[in-house]
Amino acid sequence: MARIVLKDLHKHFGKVRAVDGINLDVEDGEFTVFLGPSGCGKTTTLLMLAGIYKPTKGEIFFDGYLMNDVPPKDREIGMVFQSYALYPHMTLYDNIAFPLRAMKVKKDEIDRRVKEVTKNLDIGKLLDRKPHQISGGQQQRVAIARALIKRPKILLFDEPLSNLDAALRAYMRAEIKKLQHDLGITTVYVTHDQVEAMTMADRIAVFSTGKIQQYDTPENIYNKPANVFVAKFVGTPAMNIIDATVILENGSFYVVNGSIKLKTRKERAEKLEKLIGKKLKFGIRPEHIKLSPKPLDENSIKAVVYILEPLGREIIYNIKIGDVIFKVLTEERMDLHPGDQIYMNISLDNYHLFDAETGESIF
Ligand code: ATP
Repeated sequence: MARIVLKDLHKHFGKVRAVDGINLDVEDGEFTVFLGPSGCGKTTTLLMLAGIYKPTKGEIFFDGYLMNDVPPKDREIGMVFQSYALYPHMTLYDNIAFPLRAMKVKKDEIDRRVKEVTKNLDIGKLLDRKPHQISGGQQQRVAIARALIKRPKILLFDEPLSNLDAALRAYMRAEIKKLQHDLGITTVYVTHDQVEAMTMADRIAVFSTGKIQQYDTPENIYNKPANVFVAKFVGTPAMNIIDATVILENGSFYVVNGSIKLKTRKERAEKLEKLIGKKLKFGIRPEHIKLSPKPLDENSIKAVVYILEPLGREIIYNIKIGDVIFKVLTEERMDLHPGDQIYMNISLDNYHLFDAETGESIF
């Protein structure tokens, strides 16, 4: 197996800094997901790991060995693409066996290895077929089998589920996770789908504009976002974020934006004192707001129901305070209609403050 270390990795295409100084440490056997919007440098980083792109600057180490000048075929990696890249005229068997044939491995050994990799992928009975005779999910599994046949030390996935429908995507998510768990192969998986990232990763590297914004467990990415970008990018519906300032009134600290005024807990006083007068962003996740027909305490904020978005098990209440719309996610069904008056109660245990200029999390 292999540990991956990236040091100050850059890839520039002319003036475009596709990857702009990445440092990363993927542990042996770890499942790391590169998550980020289109064009943020995830695929370019993956292609540098694969050896398809040469870094403009910086270093790639596998198990302590510098890989920058090692050709792709000698990197002991298996790669699975979004398009599967199967050969249409070949049977599935021949597609899977292809990398071994190219290495002139003996027929018996190829037979044994094809059986071995297809065993857990549930495609053993389809091997005489050609790619167009099987489903998208099965094609994806053939691509995975082909990536595994050389017993790679590292598996690289580039948006492998994007071409599948929602149900199959959810199924394959769990299948790939189980396979990786059983094989214990160090894995880097590129996606822009936060559900894939949250459900599959040991750690997620959140990318934006060629940089890693945060590299952490899914739980920490969600609960302790390092900055406004991560806070907004991960979570559905997204975290509610508004401008805010801190004021001191009669010995208490308040976080304020117009008619929204939250008296904070005493424990936070030391941190809040330093924030008086600073431009801040206040964030609260939709599930950390409670609605009530009457004020619950001095922190209850009067609001008007804007629109409802039922999701089946849960419902998103969109409520309006002045010009600001907050999204509230709950399983609780309330007899509410657009225009109704309601009170919003923000959980004081769960709000976030960010520096408005740098975007960095304060707490
Ligand atoms: P996506 O999810 O859309 O694939 P990504 O995060 O994987 O996005 P990259 O494909 O790594 O992003 O691209 C990062 C940036 O580098 C983009 O601005 C892209 O246009 C640019 N870029 C990528 N490959 C090349 C190339 N071969 N030549 C020039 N610019 C490129």
